[in-house]
Amino acid sequence: MKHQDTFKDVAKQISTATGKHFEPLVAQPITGGDINSAFRLQGGEQSYFVKLNRPQLLDMFEAEQAGLHELAASQTLRVPLPIVSGKTEGHAFLVMEHIVWGANTSTTSRLLGQQLALMHQPQQAYFGWHRDNTIGSTPQSNRQHADWPTFWRDQRLGVQLNLAKANGYGGRLQSLGEQLCGHINAFFSSYHPTPSLLHGDLWGGNTAVDQQGRPVIFDPACYYGDRETDLAMTELFGGFDRDFYAAYQSAWPVDPGFSTRKILYNLYHILNHLNLFGGGYARQAESQLAKLLSEIK
Ligand code: ADP
Repeated sequence: MKHQDTFKDVAKQISTATGKHFEPLVAQPITGGDINSAFRLQGGEQSYFVKLNRPQLLDMFEAEQAGLHELAASQTLRVPLPIVSGKTEGHAFLVMEHIVWGANTSTTSRLLGQQLALMHQPQQAYFGWHRDNTIGSTPQSNRQHADWPTFWRDQRLGVQLNLAKANGYGGRLQSLGEQLCGHINAFFSSYHPTPSLLHGDLWGGNTAVDQQGRPVIFDPACYYGDRETDLAMTELFGGFDRDFYAAYQSAWPVDPGFSTRKILYNLYHILNHLNLFGGGYARQAESQLAKLLSEIK
């Protein structure tokens, strides 16, 4: 099916969802994503951001839509408001509000830090979420737990280590992984996080600024967990400046044990990259595992 027919079909479903007739005139491709193809669909005064992928991946878009709703409901950081997700003959799609980007400044970085700290204010009793989602394109289990170290071991590191084993990464990676999972409580002897609403995939490519200077976050992998996991990920691939960290710290200071736990938290994303892209991530994961084990022995 040609993209033109797909966009006609998507436009019909936008019209139904919004109750306002939408006739797209221009479909402009947008680059920068990892997983999906993306377009700005424009017609008259209306403009939408549309992601397309294979029809089998509708569930991934439904989870992203639910995540955007969850973040929006916190009324802290701006997120693109989701409009509708569904299927056409050849694609699954997700439509959201299209946002025109503005310039990042020290003020917008500070706002991002302050508003993220607000978003992280604890809101519920359990770690996890009411539904599963994806991290990149890897399934992410959000089965709820009352105990955070158990959640991190069973729903995060354990799942990625098992996937790595199935992908052929056995040996030292698995033996270090087993040792770490057996000692997970050692990282939490005097630290007891509360469940914060998390973006879940907070690298620099998933934040921007709108034309009014408001920070925006998008492409989430939401769940409730230790706020330090979001902060750890901001450091993994960079893109966040000193103003951001200073503002977050003054709104809600971070526990000193973060410098070690961030390695434990970013290990999840390194393992996920190993499972998605292979290659050099195996050595990086092993060295991080060895570093963590040396901290507790
Ligand atoms: P993927 O799911 O493929 O990783 P992203 O959600 O990261 O895709 O989006 C890809 C790019 O599209 C981003 O880098 C961003 O610049 C842009 N983008 C994302 N959401 C919007 C939006 N609502 N409005 C305008 N541009 C957007």
